[in-house]
Amino acid sequence: MIGILQSMATTMKHALDGQTFTIEYPESVPHVSPRFRGVHKFSQERCIWCRQCEIVCPNDTIEIKLDDKRQGEEYNLHIGQCIYCRLCEEVCPVDAIVLTQQFEFTGDTKADLVYNKEQLKNVPWYKGLDPLASREPTRSAWVGETDGEIDYQ
Ligand code: SF4
Ligand code: SF4
Repeated sequence: MIGILQSMATTMKHALDGQTFTIEYPESVPHVSPRFRGVHKFSQERCIWCRQCEIVCPNDTIEIKLDDKRQGEEYNLHIGQCIYCRLCEEVCPVDAIVLTQQFEFTGDTKADLVYNKEQLKNVPWYKGLDPLASREPTRSAWVGETDGEIDYQ
């Protein structure tokens, strides 16, 4: 009983101190950390179709189709099954695939959450933030700092 009263007192104290921790979304735009991992942006102009992102992805989220001259025909990303590990971005030698801070996307079906290269190209930067400018893309962060530089090409 004393425990319940103490927790109620704590709740009332925070309820009456005037501080607000929630926002009225979507009227107010939330602050998102530069390290937040949202939906990807893809640049066909930068991509060299090396397929490293497809190979490194742990759950087959990325699907690349090449023509008979090994030129890229399709780049599909099944965003509904992505775990936002960011390995695709880390492994890409030309920064053609980048996770933005964009979290505002929805779909009614699984198929709605398969983004092709045009859709990925048109993913807007969240609040104009370029994630590569706001975080240091360092591969040593996940391979271990003592392992040194690793060339994935
Ligand atoms: S963030 Fe991870 S799971 Fe998502 S597409 Fe990239 S490698 Fe795959
Ligand atoms: S790793 Fe980069 S360059 Fe290679 S296929 Fe993926 S997006 Fe294109």
